[in-house]
Amino acid sequence: MSTQYNNECIFCKIVSGAIPSKKIYEDEDVIAFHDINPSAKVHFLIVPKLHVESLASCEAEHQVLLGKLLLLAPKLAKEQGLAGFKTLINTGREGGQLVFHLHLHVLGGN
Ligand code: 5GP
Ligand code: ZN
Repeated sequence: MSTQYNNECIFCKIVSGAIPSKKIYEDEDVIAFHDINPSAKVHFLIVPKLHVESLASCEAEHQVLLGKLLLLAPKLAKEQGLAGFKTLINTGREGGQLVFHLHLHVLGGN
């Protein structure tokens, strides 16, 4: 399910600026910021501005957006000084997802 904005959603609040973040990138569709509890030397999240709950909620209409998230990973990783990196999308409670607004983790530097 996707909506423009979800009042209960922490990443929607980061997108709107209501909650501060260490932002590294922003355009009309996407924002990227450092994870508040990093699991690697460099750990940032690439997040669509549109509230989409998870990868499992994505439909054909999200295809371009999903491609954009993926294509940004190497670009932003390079800007963060990473020669290589890991990507991760936790999906669903049993998949380790804690924040139900789609996001791509990028980790590296260890
Ligand atoms: P998930 O398990 O849903 O894939 O990961 C959610 C991630 O969001 C976690 O790594 C967590 O540290 C991060 N996170 C949760 N709340 C905030 C926040 O308010 N600010 C930032 N920058 N990251 C957050
Ligand atoms: Zn949201």
